Amino acid sequence: MKEINAIEFEQEVLNGGKVVLDFYSSECPPCEALAPKFQNLSQLYGNDVKFLKIFRQENRELADKLGVKSSPTLLFFDGGKEIAGRLSGGIKRSDIIAHLDSMLPGDKVSSIKAQIKPSVSEFDVLILGAGPGGLTAGLYLCQARINTVLIDTGLPGGHVATTHEVSNYPGFIEPQAGYMLSHNMAEQTKMCGTIYKVAVDITSVDLEKKEVVIDEFETVRARKIIIATGTSPNLMNVPGEKELKGKGISYCATCDAKYFPGKDVVVIGEETQL
Ligand SMILES: Cc1cc2nc3c(=O)[nH]c(=O)nc-3n(C[C@H](O)[C@H](O)[C@H](O)COP(=O)(O)OP(=O)(O)OC[C@H]3O[C@@H](n4cnc5c(N)ncnc54)[C@H](O)[C@@H]3O)c2cc1C
Repeated sequence: MKEINAIEFEQEVLNGGKVVLDFYSSECPPCEALAPKFQNLSQLYGNDVKFLKIFRQENRELADKLGVKSSPTLLFFDGGKEIAGRLSGGIKRSDIIAHLDSMLPGDKVSSIKAQIKPSVSEFDVLILGAGPGGLTAGLYLCQARINTVLIDTGLPGGHVATTHEVSNYPGFIEPQAGYMLSHNMAEQTKMCGTIYKVAVDITSVDLEKKEVVIDEFETVRARKIIIATGTSPNLMNVPGEKELKGKGISYCATCDAKYFPGKDVVVIGEETQL
């Protein structure tokens, strides 16, 4: 796949044709998650759409000019003009395909789809969900030399990745930024050798056959499956809830009591019998 720099941008991107441009960075887990998907799609769509990469850290001026603020960011161009709908963060294969398909005539899309070859891979253990639960299971299994794959619909980290500060994690005296804590968990489990398939669509889960199909065409089988898909807090959908999230509305009664001493607290949700 061709890598360009800011000087080549005009000739390679603005001079016409259909182009998808990936602004990436080093030490960027979402960029690492995107790379194999981007490479695979370039093989399928590469005759009709030009796939280009550009290293954001060394081409900051161009990134700033284009308003690219994070890595990875995918930009789509047709005839030298950018098409609306940039993709960034945990980019799914299906989202890229939807963009590419919208740039091509229907018969071309059908002939490209006909070339997709389904794949099958096998592991000892498959973990669904790469939050703290799944990452911990992945680390322990990997250290026991058990061939393990972690699958998540988003990026690794689960709810902790979006938590401002975690102050009750054993071993850390000072509160830890949730993002960094989950980043370190994810890196530790990956460095051990656990395989990651993240920011994917779950097409089907068959617990009898112990088989999960992701992104429509990729079958992952395992001797055992661990489900670590966590929970999502129920929202009340009342006025002000969105605005006051993290500024008074808390979703973890067991973690956050210490932040509200002497205050009136309303708990909405399941009652716990003590
Ligand atoms: C706002 C907030 C603040 C919190 N603060 C604290 C705190 O300070 N201290 C503390 O100890 N705890 C805190 N918690 C609780 C803590 O985040 C959870 O206990 C912890 O994240 C649970 O980990 P988990 O791996 O079980 O699930 P999760 O963190 O929920 O992770 C589940 C993962 O599964 C993925 N997933 C979901 N469905 C699927 C599917 N079908 N297929 C594949 N993957 C799927 C999700 O994308 C996610 O990555 C907080 C929670 C919230 C919401």
